[in-house]
Amino acid sequence: MLVVPCYNEEEVLESTASVLLEKIQILQDRHQVDKSSCIVFVDDGSSDKTWENISLLHDRYSSKIHGIKLAHNKGHQNALFAGLMYALDAGVDACISLDADLQDDPNAIDEMIERYTEGDEIVYGVRDNRERDTFFKRTSAHAFYSLMKKLGAETVPDHADYRLLSRTTLIALSQYGESNLFLRGIVPSLGFKTSKVYYTRGVRIAGESKYPLRKMIAFAIDGITSFSTKPLSLISATGILSVVVSVIMLIYTVLSVFWGSAVAGWGSIMSSLWFLGGCILLAIGVVGEYVGKIYIEVKDRPRYIVEATL
Ligand code: UDP
Ligand code: MG
Repeated sequence: MLVVPCYNEEEVLESTASVLLEKIQILQDRHQVDKSSCIVFVDDGSSDKTWENISLLHDRYSSKIHGIKLAHNKGHQNALFAGLMYALDAGVDACISLDADLQDDPNAIDEMIERYTEGDEIVYGVRDNRERDTFFKRTSAHAFYSLMKKLGAETVPDHADYRLLSRTTLIALSQYGESNLFLRGIVPSLGFKTSKVYYTRGVRIAGESKYPLRKMIAFAIDGITSFSTKPLSLISATGILSVVVSVIMLIYTVLSVFWGSAVAGWGSIMSSLWFLGGCILLAIGVVGEYVGKIYIEVKDRPRYIVEATL
């Protein structure tokens, strides 16, 4: 089963569906996949005609195209999770997730399936280069991967959410009850036999990116705070450092009294005051991030609500 999350993708659905159906047909002719193989489109609470288009496609191709409509926009990761759990319930042996805009080259599916047949449980689609990206996106992405690594979280560089997951991994994934979902971190932490397949990421076939800078930054912060408590230890380190600095300041001030230039200490006191104030605020901010997450997790709300299925 192919799992495709869609948010306001009315422009691309038609062509995406035909490209993917054709791909499935080829694989079926080669007896690489079962006759029941199909696509599930997850409408992530779109405000355009995405759901109408999915319904039309379902009417036209019936069992080859399934649809899930989330009642509200819950973000790419949650929509994807809804699709994966749908695939699990449908009893698939394996499923592949990919973007609706076909930036993830469907021709890599063949190799993914070969790897699965050879016994791999997880197959990552990895971009072979980032030449098509803007300089900003390229550097920020690489900075993010190395930061994640330093913080002790495992991610696969240049891999987004284009991957094959076997039934075994889907069952494992279904046990993750957290609301702050970051699949790019969770999947590598599962273990299992994995491999990578390289592909060239194309440009969006139509429409515009649903990942503006604002969402990208929020996603990166989510990834870090969901997988690492190192920022918390960083606070303690900063705290110790600022105490050391303030002790040096104190010694300097006391000494300056003997030197007869006590007024000069005013500057250092003021600066340390501001410095400490800044540290405290920063520390409270980071602790707040975690407290906020605990608050959300404790509520244990469902990640999404399925409104309709086809
Ligand atoms: N997407 C989603 N919900 C959102 C935002 C995006 O389901 O809130 C889907 C979108 O329809 C697409 C995929 O996530 O299938 C990747 O989004 P996009 O192509 O806009 O991101 P980009 O490739 O620009 O990073
Ligand atoms: Mg895209």
